[in-house]
This record gives sequence, C-alpha cells and structure tokens, in this order.
Amino acid sequence: MSRWCNNCGVKLPNRNAKRTYNGYKVRNLCKSCWSNPTDEDRCDAITKKKVRCKLRKDPESKGGYCGMHRNKMERGK
Ligand SMILES: [Zn+2]
Ligand SMILES: [Zn+2]
Repeated sequence: MSRWCNNCGVKLPNRNAKRTYNGYKVRNLCKSCWSNPTDEDRCDAITKKKVRCKLRKDPESKGGYCGMHRNKMERGK
C-alpha cells in the first residue's frame, strides 16, 4: 500500500507511514513537511531566544506545546 504526503504529495517510504509521535499515529507527512510544521501545527512556546519554538505540537498537549515544552509548562501547574 502506497502513501503520499498530505501536504506536498510526495510518495512516502513505507516505514514513514508507521511513524508515530509520542505514540500517536501521525497524519501522512513526508520528512520535510514533518520537520517544518505550519504555524498552526507548531508549539506555542517562546524559547529563551524569544523566538517561537519550531517543534511540532504534541497532540496530547492542551496548551498547544511540543512534548518538551509540555513537560515544562504543564507539569508545574
Ligand atoms: Zn510533504
Ligand atoms: Zn516547544
């Protein structure tokens, strides 16, 4: 079964189709789309350098943070 990237239409290698993110199955995305999420899909945290975190949101995060920031921001509350 072949899969294509949802974003740019590039054909995905098979192992890519099984990629998970913190245990969640990821919507079909190629490597470059995966590592360059749109603003909407990006973590909402601002890093120490005052730029927005470039990592993808953790689907489990209520605050819209990546896995790393989720641990940081949501654990303390
Ligand atoms: Zn793509
Ligand atoms: Zn982040």
